[in-house]
Amino acid sequence: MNAPTVTQRIRRLIFEHFDRHGVPPVVEQLMVEFSLARDDAAEILRELDAARHIALVRGTARILMAFPYSAIATPFRVTTKERTYFANCAWDAVAFHAMLDEADVTVDSACHHCAEPIHIEMRGGSASVVEPADAIVYLALKPTQWWEDIVTTCSNTMVFFSSEAHRDASDLCAPPEQAASLTPDQVHALSGPIYRTKFAVDYARPGKDELLAHFAALGLTGEYWKL
Ligand SMILES: [Zn+2]
Repeated sequence: MNAPTVTQRIRRLIFEHFDRHGVPPVVEQLMVEFSLARDDAAEILRELDAARHIALVRGTARILMAFPYSAIATPFRVTTKERTYFANCAWDAVAFHAMLDEADVTVDSACHHCAEPIHIEMRGGSASVVEPADAIVYLALKPTQWWEDIVTTCSNTMVFFSSEAHRDASDLCAPPEQAASLTPDQVHALSGPIYRTKFAVDYARPGKDELLAHFAALGLTGEYWKL
């Protein structure tokens, strides 16, 4: 392996910092740690944003999201043996289990329709507790739309419902071919190639062909899953 670039090392530091402290590092920490001028540190953060590793607060060099971590409070609370985190969306909450080598993860959230508590325990590669039992993860936009505005997508369109009935009663409910309803186990399987190696310095997001093959291997082959 080639020596990691500063951009790769900063990406990994962001994830390690979230892991240890529950919040992202600030630009000044990167300036000191990597001997960078402010503009150069900010430029690297913008590169990581453009490469879809993180999302910045618009118009700033402040880190809002490093998928699956959120820097601000959200309805997607994740608890590990060590600490509590906020995830960006329902998918990101379940994805902590894949990212953390299938360590025990508890997700506490709420139905997007009625705010009823939803409690999920991910253990050894599957959901050992899902309360209420019919709770689903709902993706209200198609994959081709996710990155048009990822902050909006994560914040507003990837949610939990306590049941399909509450999904159907919600304003968010889209026509079936334009949305996906998944079980926590399906979301865990979906997360593997995207989240499993987030802490590796040479982490790369899977390409389109790799993702399509992964969707197909999980039986996710309908019109919705085209990229
Ligand atoms: Zn509900």
